[in-house]
Amino acid sequence: MNTSLKAIINAKLIVGDEIVEDKILLFDKRIVKIEKKIDLDQIEIIDAKHHYVSAGFIDIHIHGSGGADIMDATPQALQTISKTLLQTGTTSFLATTMTMSNEVINKALQNIQQHSKKVLGAKIIGIHLEGPFINPAKHGAQDKTYIEPANFKLIKNYMQEIKMITLAPEEKGNETFIKDMSKKYPHIILSIGHSDASYAEAKKSFKWGISHATHLFNAMNPYHHRKPGIVGAVFDSDVSCDIIADLVHTHPSALALVQHVKKDNLLLITDAMRAGCMKCGTYDLGGRRVEVSKGKACLEDGTLAGSVLQMNEAIVNMLKYTSMTLIEAINAVTRIPAKKLAIPKGELKVGYDADIVIFDENLSIIKSIIDGEVKYQCLDY
Ligand SMILES: [Zn+2]
Repeated sequence: MNTSLKAIINAKLIVGDEIVEDKILLFDKRIVKIEKKIDLDQIEIIDAKHHYVSAGFIDIHIHGSGGADIMDATPQALQTISKTLLQTGTTSFLATTMTMSNEVINKALQNIQQHSKKVLGAKIIGIHLEGPFINPAKHGAQDKTYIEPANFKLIKNYMQEIKMITLAPEEKGNETFIKDMSKKYPHIILSIGHSDASYAEAKKSFKWGISHATHLFNAMNPYHHRKPGIVGAVFDSDVSCDIIADLVHTHPSALALVQHVKKDNLLLITDAMRAGCMKCGTYDLGGRRVEVSKGKACLEDGTLAGSVLQMNEAIVNMLKYTSMTLIEAINAVTRIPAKKLAIPKGELKVGYDADIVIFDENLSIIKSIIDGEVKYQCLDY
């Protein structure tokens, strides 16, 4: 038997903007064929039992899960997060750092550089540097003691791994940094976030090279009809943005609004911290104490401190509270982030990586497949 080739049959395949029910998905490490008739002799068959099959989910903003955090800076932490995420449908993610001392950030970056390829679950496809180049006025759960002007010194050894930087363009010195970065490293997504930029400042920064906005509405000035701020600037431009659809960071009405305005320029993220997929209790986030209860993670003063959201739950919330269709919601966690990162993933398309999820109509994950290998199987199915 050719063990490397597998076929998924009896599936509702989410292919492009369609749900296809009469085709077979053939893959090895990559997607090989999507056709009605395939000779299945000598091929391992996976029966999807008429459940949905899509490309694996991609989370561009996640700090931790399963009790581990990227800032723990250990190979075991990466392994724990990677394995835990399989049950949420996430098959690849950007390991997201926090605002801490240069020494601690450097350790975390080094750990990712050395060990990210060895993880056995969801793949680490790069680094998202969230801070320390942010505005102290909008630090949120980031420790403002360590905020500093944007500079290459901290990141220069990791330019291959870094795929995204969240920063505040209005802070002194950051304009030059953004312009330099977008010229020299156009593959790195520069995202406005933890920022207090005005509408005009935000608009200007889009010309310098900012192409995205991090957890829209959170850690930025709110929309006002005479002072539309960052939200207004994102709304009347083609800059993409992401949201934490956990119903804690963002009200259902705001989710519906941003979906209506941004359409296929909207991505879903979890921004999950170490308590993701864990029980309620007390946890650490970037050296600060966080209480987790009722789906909410807060610092002692009540400031929201990351989420405990799972990607499959984010999809459920969008379907429930906005006019998003299932295909659109899946695109917001597959095709759209993959396009933004310019990687051959996020679609069931010939030649693309065989990162695949099988899930039911409630978005419960039945199987997660990474590089063509089944890495997670829900025992209830
Ligand atoms: Zn975050």
